[in-house]
Amino acid sequence: MNRRISREVQIGNVTVGGNNPIAVQSMTNTDTMNTMATVEQTIRLVDKGCNIVRITASDEKSARNLYNIKNELIKRNYNVPLVADIHFNPKAAEISASLVEKIRINPGNYVDRKWNKDFSQQDYEDILKRAQDNISPLIDICKKHNTAIRIGVNHGSISERIVYRYGNTPLAMAESAMEFLRMFRQMDFLNIVVSMKASNVKVMNQANILLVEKMKEENLALPIHLGVTEAGNGEDGRIKSICGIGSLLACGIGDTIRVSLTEEPENEIPVAKLLTEAFSDIYENKEVSNQAKQIRDISNSARMLLEDKIDTESFEKNTCYDEELTKNILQATGKKVFKTEFIACPSCGRTKYDIQTALNRVKEKCSHLKGLKIAVMGCIVNGPGEMADADYGYIGCGSNKVNLYRKKELVHSYIDEEKAIDMLIDMIKEDGKW
Ligand code: SF4
Repeated sequence: MNRRISREVQIGNVTVGGNNPIAVQSMTNTDTMNTMATVEQTIRLVDKGCNIVRITASDEKSARNLYNIKNELIKRNYNVPLVADIHFNPKAAEISASLVEKIRINPGNYVDRKWNKDFSQQDYEDILKRAQDNISPLIDICKKHNTAIRIGVNHGSISERIVYRYGNTPLAMAESAMEFLRMFRQMDFLNIVVSMKASNVKVMNQANILLVEKMKEENLALPIHLGVTEAGNGEDGRIKSICGIGSLLACGIGDTIRVSLTEEPENEIPVAKLLTEAFSDIYENKEVSNQAKQIRDISNSARMLLEDKIDTESFEKNTCYDEELTKNILQATGKKVFKTEFIACPSCGRTKYDIQTALNRVKEKCSHLKGLKIAVMGCIVNGPGEMADADYGYIGCGSNKVNLYRKKELVHSYIDEEKAIDMLIDMIKEDGKW
């Protein structure tokens, strides 16, 4: 296996891509306005081995507070590169770009009109042109401050315009990134990392492979950040992340990674470190521990399953894993369903309720619903879009308040959390699925 060699991108004191070690990232889930809580969580992440820390900048005020967070970290001798996570707010991106080392934007958020099926090719191009005009002030600031950008495509929030043309597919995800890469290249800005994230491991795997092919066709070799979104918690979340991220590292793809878990962010780092170690003899010529070798075996198994190089039956028959792990790998790769699938975001500064407890409560009550997908999400801004193709959604919308969804339909809004579980169960019973 050869590593895909990408262009080097400097993110503060960390160089990503090229022959550099795979960088481990995570994200704070504190309120960005709470400077001390965010600084302390960042420090806990760095002390565990996190190389790059992302912080949500949901509005202009929290974007400005990145200045205080950065200063406090430097005062305490933590010069870790920070990434501002931006959704729907170009102004917050522009403010953050002069304060932190990287900005993460979602191309799906940079379109200005809802797509209408009667639009022409010219309308399509006009929308793209306006996106370029909207983003150009940000690029100027990034050039001036040497700030990198991550183009972060999420399966749950591809723009309607792209979905209309390519369907809600891995190809649509790759194209969504390529449009922006072409645009950025025209603006002479290639200080970019790209990511294709999905909660579905197969979709995430295929989108990244397509992205690599498309970049190659167009002579681009930008570094890739890997992650499975809304992977949930516990063993399920870890196996899902290992299968998604590991299956690509096993192909030589990936320059930075994040294992997203609906737990304390610090818990993500040991799993991510094991994943980077699993391939470090190839990527960095280093010894690999037995535990990391097991992670590599799981990654290779996931790759074989995802690429249909081994069928489910042979895998079950010949595997050396115990029954539980075998089932988890098959479920994570979408090959066989053994239990309820829980989709849950890791939460971030936008989360205003206790998502970790909520997820555990939902799991406790609904774990017998084999075949159902239930999402537990942290906010109503991105939660409904990002909860993938879940059958039911339990989404925090304020302090101890929840919205309940059946597929994409909002069924109960702003209900007390104490009542939410029973109401969710009633919805499932009404549908005859309990
Ligand atoms: S869905 Fe979760 S991780 Fe995404 S923005 Fe909302 S709270 Fe943050």
